[in-house]
Amino acid sequence: MHDVRIDRDRLWNSHMAMAEIGATPGGGVCRLALTDPDKQARGLFVSWCREAGCAVRVDKLGNIFARRAGSEPDAAPVMTGSHLDTQPLGGRFDGIFGVLAGLEVVRALNDAGIATRRPLDIAVWSDEEGVRFRSGTMGSGVFSGRVNLEEALAMTDESGLSVRGELARIGYDGPEAVGGFPVHAYFEAHIEQGPVLEREGITVGAVEGAQGARRFRVTVGGEEGHAGTLPMTGRRDALLGAARMIDALNRVAFTHDPHPVITVGSIFVRPNSPNTVPGQAAFTIDSRHPHAATLAAIDADMRAACAAIAKADGLTLHIEQTSDSTPVAFDKACIASVRAAAKALGIPHRDIYSGAGHDACNLSHIAPTGMIFVPCEGGVSHNEKENAKPEDLAAGAAVLLRVMTEWAE
Ligand SMILES: [Zn+2]
Repeated sequence: MHDVRIDRDRLWNSHMAMAEIGATPGGGVCRLALTDPDKQARGLFVSWCREAGCAVRVDKLGNIFARRAGSEPDAAPVMTGSHLDTQPLGGRFDGIFGVLAGLEVVRALNDAGIATRRPLDIAVWSDEEGVRFRSGTMGSGVFSGRVNLEEALAMTDESGLSVRGELARIGYDGPEAVGGFPVHAYFEAHIEQGPVLEREGITVGAVEGAQGARRFRVTVGGEEGHAGTLPMTGRRDALLGAARMIDALNRVAFTHDPHPVITVGSIFVRPNSPNTVPGQAAFTIDSRHPHAATLAAIDADMRAACAAIAKADGLTLHIEQTSDSTPVAFDKACIASVRAAAKALGIPHRDIYSGAGHDACNLSHIAPTGMIFVPCEGGVSHNEKENAKPEDLAAGAAVLLRVMTEWAE
C-alpha cells in the first residue's frame, strides 16, 4: 500500500482536459445529459480507461462501467463513480471529480503493480443533474431499482426528444441489463458543494448521509378590496399574512439544533394588482434536515406558526405537502473506513452531512455505501466559478484509493 501514490498533477490535468468539452466563456462547463458534449466526455473517459487496461461495459440506460480486474474475477466489485453531465452553467468538478478520482485510483494501482482480490468498477451514471429530462440521478436510480427503466427511457426533453432516442443517437444504448449484479461496496468522491470544509480548514469530509427534504405549497386566503377605500384596520390581506408566515418560518429554522434549512423560494399573489388588497397568496416551502424525527418536528412547528398567523389575521390556510424524500444514512463501516483512511494518511477530516442528493444515495439502498467530500472554493457549486485545489482533490483520491483497496481484499 505504501508504494501506491496518487499523482496530483495527472489528476488535475485530467480535470482540465475534461473541462474543455462543453467549456463556457465564463470558465465553466455546459454538458447536459445525452448531448454531443456528453458523448465526447464519455468517449474521452472510455479511451482513458481502455489505456489503463480496463474492460468497459455500457448498460441499456447508458451507464458506463470500467472494470479493473481482480485476482478473483467473479467476486462482487468494489465500485466508485459519479457523473460527467453538468448544469447549464455548471463547473469543472461537480461529478467529474468522482469519476476521475476513480480513474486515478486505477492508474496509481497500475503504476505500483498492485492487484486487488475483488474487481474495481468505475461507474459513470447517466443524467445525474436532471436538467434536460427533469429527472435527477436517473442512471443510478434505475440501477438501484428505485426508478423503472421503461419510464426513464420514455422521458422527453423540452423539444420532445426521448432518453431512448438520445442514447441511441450518441451511441450509448448499451447491451447490458441495468443493475442486477451485486456490488460489494460503493464509494463516491465529490466536492462538498458547501462551505463547511473550507471554512474549517479541513481537507476531507467523511459523509454520514444526505439530508431529507419535504416540500409544501401553502395557500393563504383573505378578501380582495380597494387599496384606496378599504381602511387598514379590518383588512384580510392574504399577502401580508403570507409575509408574516415566511418570516415565522425563517425563525422556526433557528429553534432546532443543528439548524435545518427552510426556504421559501416561490410566491404567487392574486389578483396581483397594485391597487387591490390581495385576496390570495400562495408560496412554496422547502425544508431539509439530516434526521427524520427533526424533519417531522419542523413540519409540525411550521404548520403551527402559519396557523397562528392565519387565525390572528382572519385568513384561511391550506398546506399541501408536495414531496417527501427521506434522509439517507450511509453504511457505518464505510464511514469508519473513510475516517480511518484520512487519519492514516494524516489528512485533516471531519464527519459531515450532504446538503445535496447524489448517485451514492441511490446506491446506498443496494450496497454498503460511503462518500468522501473535499472542499470547493467558497462552497460555490452549480456555477461556472466552481473551483477546487489540486492538492485537495489528490487528498480525496488518496482516501478513495485506500478505502477501495481495503474493501477489495
Ligand atoms: Zn454531483
